[in-house]
Amino acid sequence: MQNELRAIVESSRRIVFFGGAGVSTESGIPDFRSSAGLYAQTAGTLAAPEEILSHSFFVREPELFFGFYRSSMLYPDARPNRAHLGLAALEAAGRLKAVVTQNIDGLHQAAGSRRVLELHGSVHRNTCQACGRTYGLEAITSSSGVPRCDCSGIIKPDVVLYEEALDRRVLAEASEEISRADTLIVGGTSLAVYPAAGLLRFFEGGRLVIINADATDFDPAATLVMRGPIGAALGQFAD
Ligand code: NAD
Repeated sequence: MQNELRAIVESSRRIVFFGGAGVSTESGIPDFRSSAGLYAQTAGTLAAPEEILSHSFFVREPELFFGFYRSSMLYPDARPNRAHLGLAALEAAGRLKAVVTQNIDGLHQAAGSRRVLELHGSVHRNTCQACGRTYGLEAITSSSGVPRCDCSGIIKPDVVLYEEALDRRVLAEASEEISRADTLIVGGTSLAVYPAAGLLRFFEGGRLVIINADATDFDPAATLVMRGPIGAALGQFAD
């Protein structure tokens, strides 16, 4: 399997990687839908993560939103793992053209990836809803309760909450990169979150590779399906 992946990579000129939360589990950040994920951890609690992480909940219950967000979505000490490093190395070698990610953790950039299209935003960018002033992650981690700007406006993370639209420019760039790719490597994503997963329909290249611990609906269409940990699969390119 590792050899098959290497052969595909070595015969590709425009690889695009499309990934999700499973790319960062080996960095200690839980995903949502696997057995050790956040949904399993929070089952039976008062509100489901989808509800707390929705725009209407943010507006209605900002204190509860930020309590959950700080405890379950922020991992300021997490470091890139071998999957992130392998992808950064493939870009530096000129084979990989873009990383399209559903993740909000900034670990691809920390690993050295330059062209990263963040479909769901980033915990590292935060904006005052009243005056538009921008802040880094510390504005959230070093405050308690609802984080406030000097102007007293609420500082909102630039992450796409449920019920919110994706950034049209990022979506357009992601679909363009995917449509121009000769190989699409999909990894660490259940492909259950739309419209992000719908981007796969723009792929017209020859090889679709899926690296995911659990089966996905797109497996039957793939040239190569790998079920092992993504750090081992992509880490071979970091060496
Ligand atoms: P998901 O939780 O729905 O699916 C993750 C998939 O990754 C699962 O199918 C699982 O089997 C697989 N996986 C987990 N660890 C793996 C590993 N080491 N190797 C190979 N496969 C592995 O995640 P999703 O599809 O990205 O959708 C969840 C949404 O939640 C996304 O929109 C994302 O923005 C957000 N989210 C982001 C983070 C983050 O930024 N790190 C973390 C949790 C959730």
